[in-house]
Amino acid sequence: MRLIRFGEEGRGEPGVLLEDGRKIDASDEFFDYDEGFFAMGGLDSLREWVSQGCPGGLEIDPGARIGPPVARPSKIVCVGQNYLEHAKEMGGEIPTEPVLFMKASSAWSGPNDDVLIPKGARKLDYEVELAVVIGKTASGVSEKEAMSHVAGYSVFCDYSERAFQKDHGGQWTKGKSADTFAPMGPCLVTTDEVADPQGLRLWTKVNGEIRQNSWTKDMLFGVRDVVSYISRFMTLLPGDVIATGTPSGVGMGMNPPRYLQAGDFVECGIEGLGELTQRVVVTR
Ligand code: ZN
Repeated sequence: MRLIRFGEEGRGEPGVLLEDGRKIDASDEFFDYDEGFFAMGGLDSLREWVSQGCPGGLEIDPGARIGPPVARPSKIVCVGQNYLEHAKEMGGEIPTEPVLFMKASSAWSGPNDDVLIPKGARKLDYEVELAVVIGKTASGVSEKEAMSHVAGYSVFCDYSERAFQKDHGGQWTKGKSADTFAPMGPCLVTTDEVADPQGLRLWTKVNGEIRQNSWTKDMLFGVRDVVSYISRFMTLLPGDVIATGTPSGVGMGMNPPRYLQAGDFVECGIEGLGELTQRVVVTR
């Protein structure tokens, strides 16, 4: 099943993307795809509604904005340097445990929304990542139990301002949290449709030129390990998002570095999950 949300920013309405490509409004049946939805068995109810042919559900206006497929999460937890070649290009040590950092949830954004260059920014960079959406509260879960806490997967771009991240003292969070730096979408694909989350190709193109091109099997710590690991340190709530790290090919890793500029067109995709397509613009 593929969950989508539509409507103006901050007012996401729930919908579904059917196998035949139609987008159906589910807002008469469901309030939103938020913590309560996942916690109260909303996915099962939605599945039943879809299996009945979405009674009462109208097609979504094709011109409607598509938002992020779940409501703004309580937190976005990111895994740093989780692909060997990326860890090398960033000049870091190879991690022996998952490196974690947080991204402000106010950076939450839709799959086709503009990416805003923050005031004072000089080094905007892209990072395509497999996003994991939590379906069931996870606190201290074992690796064996971890996957039963996952609702599904989506495409995520961990936009990063490298000067904010690296040149202002500790904590990467500074470079990761500006408005629009956390786009996800175009849909949430439930786990039953993703046979192996470690078997997916993922890529980034900038103005049509391929920059990142890799496989999720190259993660140092896979989805199962990461969900279990994070849940040792904090409670993952339904609807929370984990960004599982990016492969090599980021702008900072190039010689000389190639950062994003106003007017650039960025496409981040994952096989079977879809693509983000975004324009980079300057904050006014
Ligand atoms: Zn990242």
